[in-house]
Amino acid sequence: MCLACFGTGLFLGASRPALVGADQPAAAKDNAPKPAPPFAMAARLGANLYLQTAAEYRACCLAIYQAAEARLAVLRALPAQLPRPAVVMDLDETVLDNAAFESFLHRYNVEYSDDLWEYYEKNYQDEVTLVPGARQFILAAQRMGVSVVFMSNRTETNRAATAAALRRLGVADGPLKDRLVLKPKGGSSDKSARREQVAARYNVLVYFGDNLRDFSETFVTPRLTPKDGPDAYTAAIRNRFRQVDEARCHWGVDWFVLPNPAYGEWEKLIAADPFGQLRPTSIVPPKLR
Ligand SMILES: [Mg+2]
Repeated sequence: MCLACFGTGLFLGASRPALVGADQPAAAKDNAPKPAPPFAMAARLGANLYLQTAAEYRACCLAIYQAAEARLAVLRALPAQLPRPAVVMDLDETVLDNAAFESFLHRYNVEYSDDLWEYYEKNYQDEVTLVPGARQFILAAQRMGVSVVFMSNRTETNRAATAAALRRLGVADGPLKDRLVLKPKGGSSDKSARREQVAARYNVLVYFGDNLRDFSETFVTPRLTPKDGPDAYTAAIRNRFRQVDEARCHWGVDWFVLPNPAYGEWEKLIAADPFGQLRPTSIVPPKLR
């Protein structure tokens, strides 16, 4: 099927099923309370323009990866290290830049769907680029004798396409079999079990991600509905802030987070009335004073 068919046919106006419980059985989904309306692509335009055009975003990524490289050098210099040192890196918007997919959604005026993402993941690996600084960090880690493990919620079904992208981009050195940890078909987006499996094989020194769930499932966001009311959204947002503050000892030490204003766990807490979630202000237009 051509892209134009996707743009005007089956997928037009598709919602974001990942946000309504992709990990739940079908029956549970049918009975689940309806979430807030999806955060539309039109509202993400500024975020995607920032990712694609702002040198400030590039500077952020370079700063994070350079700081991580310096931190890894310190860790590697420590005496009496455990064998098999490794770093664990999420892929999308941490190592891999999927601006092409986001541009496609905007250009064809379609909303995200898991089906469209899989279509892109499987067929358009040549369009994937790298997050600034990722390749330099990965090469530096390899020079330090540190294994790079990629842990992603890309699907195991499309392993060949993802591996081809990593090889084309020069960030896959050697066999990927045990170092490309993907989501099993029909599996959970919760990475906890996969993190434990990797930690059993490697001495993981540092984690990277653009989503807090890349670091710990404690950051999973509750599935609120409009019925819960605005206070529930505010409380859940404040709880995420508090959790991040409580994990302060990790940030920039063994957890490095890349900015992603276009999508992520955070958007589950964007309510039906996003304007109502903006910080209160006493400012009024001059003519109304
Ligand atoms: Mg990601």
